[in-house]
Amino acid sequence: MERMPETACLSGMTTSATSIVLGAGYAGLTAAALLANEQHDVIVLESHDTLGGCASFFRKGPYTFDVGATTIAGLREHQPAGRVFKKLGITPHVVRQDPGMLIRTPHADVVRHAEKHAWIEEVQRIFPQGNQAGFWNKLYQLESGVWGLIGGLTHFPPAQMSDYVKLLSPAALKGAPLATGLIRPVDVLMERYGVHRDPAFRDFIDEQLLISTQNTSEKAPYLTGAMGLTYPSDTYYPMGGMYRPALQLMRSATANGARIKFRRSVTSIVRNPSTNTWRVTCASGEVYEATNVISSIPIWNMPSLTEGRVASWYQKKGRRFDNSWCAVTAYFVLEGVPKLPGQYVQLHLDEPIPHVHSKSLFLTISHPDDREKAPAGHSTVTVSTHARSHDWKGLSDEAYREQKQRVHEHIMRIIMRRMPEFAGMVVSVQDAGTPRTWVTYTQRYDGYVGGIPHDVARPLVTLPPNQTPFRGLYHIGDSAFPGQGTPAVMLSAWNTVQRIFDA
Ligand SMILES: Cc1cc2nc3c(=O)[nH]c(=O)nc-3n(C[C@H](O)[C@H](O)[C@H](O)COP(=O)(O)OP(=O)(O)OC[C@H]3O[C@@H](n4cnc5c(N)ncnc54)[C@H](O)[C@@H]3O)c2cc1C
Repeated sequence: MERMPETACLSGMTTSATSIVLGAGYAGLTAAALLANEQHDVIVLESHDTLGGCASFFRKGPYTFDVGATTIAGLREHQPAGRVFKKLGITPHVVRQDPGMLIRTPHADVVRHAEKHAWIEEVQRIFPQGNQAGFWNKLYQLESGVWGLIGGLTHFPPAQMSDYVKLLSPAALKGAPLATGLIRPVDVLMERYGVHRDPAFRDFIDEQLLISTQNTSEKAPYLTGAMGLTYPSDTYYPMGGMYRPALQLMRSATANGARIKFRRSVTSIVRNPSTNTWRVTCASGEVYEATNVISSIPIWNMPSLTEGRVASWYQKKGRRFDNSWCAVTAYFVLEGVPKLPGQYVQLHLDEPIPHVHSKSLFLTISHPDDREKAPAGHSTVTVSTHARSHDWKGLSDEAYREQKQRVHEHIMRIIMRRMPEFAGMVVSVQDAGTPRTWVTYTQRYDGYVGGIPHDVARPLVTLPPNQTPFRGLYHIGDSAFPGQGTPAVMLSAWNTVQRIFDA
């Protein structure tokens, strides 16, 4: 793991700033960089010894592995990541993926072309039932409508009267008809276009939705479903790893004076009513004080870090949205460079894997020219899939190790059977991750990752808001509005920073 510079330990003293950002994942680093860019005095506290959180990395010898997130989207100037990078003058080194993904079902290889018409032709060929062209054209139309709306809605969901007034703007009113798509599931659109009858197509859609909205067609709202299903049309492989653009955010923040402190595990966040500031204490005993606290620590962790009304508020939110997924991951080196149309493969399973709760594995194979990931002629592979925390709780150390090994071996067996492109290549440097691993490295409660599943029963607007009811306390990241994925968490940071500047 790359060690980040550490500042001197200040145990016993109080360090002040205007804002304290908690967490150095994509959300926290975006907020810090945007604040620092406006000469705002900001400190970032991160418990781990490096950046990135769920989009972090680890190294083994000459190899670098993404730990979780591997693909970046939303890079156009009108989209969340693109807007942030443009504002900060950052140009991430990325390779556009076309096809966006290879989807290997038990019956066929589906090439997820980036270009809309090529994709519609492909999907019609593989799943000829119903009006596929109508279905996909509608999804693309919805997706572009959402991007048009997002730019103008920095104070959404509304937290105070002035935010409601902003909702009466022409841009917001124009987007109002899209709101139906937040309370009706993808299913409805599938039926409308007659593509719902083929069970193979439903499985196909469900696995695509699961990696983007964390839910399936019966429950995922069709508006965010449209964004999830169309994202492979404009997705990018970050050279060096997913942490690289995050590192650029961090460098932008520090160049503008932000103080980033690693190995600072926050243990308490308490409001001091006499000074109208927040006191943040770390496990080391260091104390920080600021007018604003911007937390990207998941909402489920917050009750144990806060007290009184603040803790109760987070408890209530945590109970309402207590259905997050966890992840099981696998990492390995291929001593070879497989011939594939792109870096991303979604493998739809033809047999269940114990303690895996989805029917697919997502594989990211390093780019052949990515020398940071692997030496020439070798590749690194990161694999992820959905898991549930209860499967990994209450196990003795021995039972845990045995279960982890069994699941990992099963995943590897399936990959080697279903990926003939890897045939004849030596597999080395294997590693695995479970919900326990995620707790260790990111401290995330129960290993909950991937944010809150999008669900018509709990519309997006009811997600924990970026501005909490407590003055100066903001919440960003994948357990707050607008949800998970790097573009979404960057949007939560962007909107929050606008709120702070407007306050
Ligand atoms: C397996 C997997 C694959 C994914 N694939 C993709 C993908 O391909 N593309 C994509 O866009 N998204 C993907 N995602 C989702 C994406 O990674 C997340 O939504 C996003 O990175 C979350 O960023 P964040 O800053 O909100 O949270 P995090 O990345 O979790 O950052 C929070 C930070 O807070 C720190 N922290 C926690 N507690 C404390 C504490 N008490 N004190 C101090 N610091 C603390 C953590 O160490 C962490 O660094 C994936 C997620 C997973 C798990």
